[in-house]
Amino acid sequence: KVKKKREIQMELEQAKLKLAWLYPEYLNLYGDQGNIICLQKRAEWRHITLQVDKISLQDEFKAAAYDLVFMGGGQDQEQAALHQDLLENKATELRKYIRSGGVMLTICGGYQLLGKYYKSADGKLTPGIDVLPLVTLAQSRRLIGNLAFVADLPLPEADRLMYGFENHSGLTYFLDERGEMLRGEKETETIARLAFGRVIKGNGNNGADGYEGCHYLNCFGTYAHGSFLPKNPAFADYLLTTALQKKYKLAADFTLPPLQENILTALRAQLQQLQA
Ligand code: GLN
Repeated sequence: KVKKKREIQMELEQAKLKLAWLYPEYLNLYGDQGNIICLQKRAEWRHITLQVDKISLQDEFKAAAYDLVFMGGGQDQEQAALHQDLLENKATELRKYIRSGGVMLTICGGYQLLGKYYKSADGKLTPGIDVLPLVTLAQSRRLIGNLAFVADLPLPEADRLMYGFENHSGLTYFLDERGEMLRGEKETETIARLAFGRVIKGNGNNGADGYEGCHYLNCFGTYAHGSFLPKNPAFADYLLTTALQKKYKLAADFTLPPLQENILTALRAQLQQLQA
């Protein structure tokens, strides 16, 4: 049965989403917390409740209870401090969640830990949970600066342009089915398919292949800090919409009621002009 607009509106007012925020005190660089606030506010302005549960070391993580998962960025030290707990206590649930199309956003250090491993500049290997087909190799030179990329998502063109701030020493490369790193030009098509988007400004995954982040089912990994979602509100809505669609079995063309965002729209238009 296709629901009428009014029915959906009424349902939204009773809608409740639950978000798991993984390792908040370890993975919260450059304002990553702003992503949570952004999701909460944008839900609240539509009368949708977004409950946020902080889940950290030793906490039990029952992924089936959640509609959204967020894991921010952190330096090598923080990654090392939590990776054992991630592997031992969260990995099975998190892999199941991601592989069944659960909505997730993860930034930089968190993003790296969803791959096969992270190798620090001094050669120390930190295994990840191996759910995204990628590895990260750190180098001594850091990739720092503003980042803009075009995401391959069913959004209006202007909203597909994403902004963020990157600061990482890790270079991320995708892996093919045999576990070989994709680095060559011949592999651009596969890289483009696995990536979150194509870099317009900045470095992205590795500063060489021109792509940024990873998009697998409804899981998004990105190097964009700073905070990412307040700068890209249409993508914040995309995450909320996908979570609502999954939980309440809404039609594929369901959209959230628009918000008044004149200042933000004007700022983004100015940024786009500067970019051109
Ligand atoms: N330790 C990682 C790196 O430097 C992640 C840094 C971050 O999250 N900004 O590559």
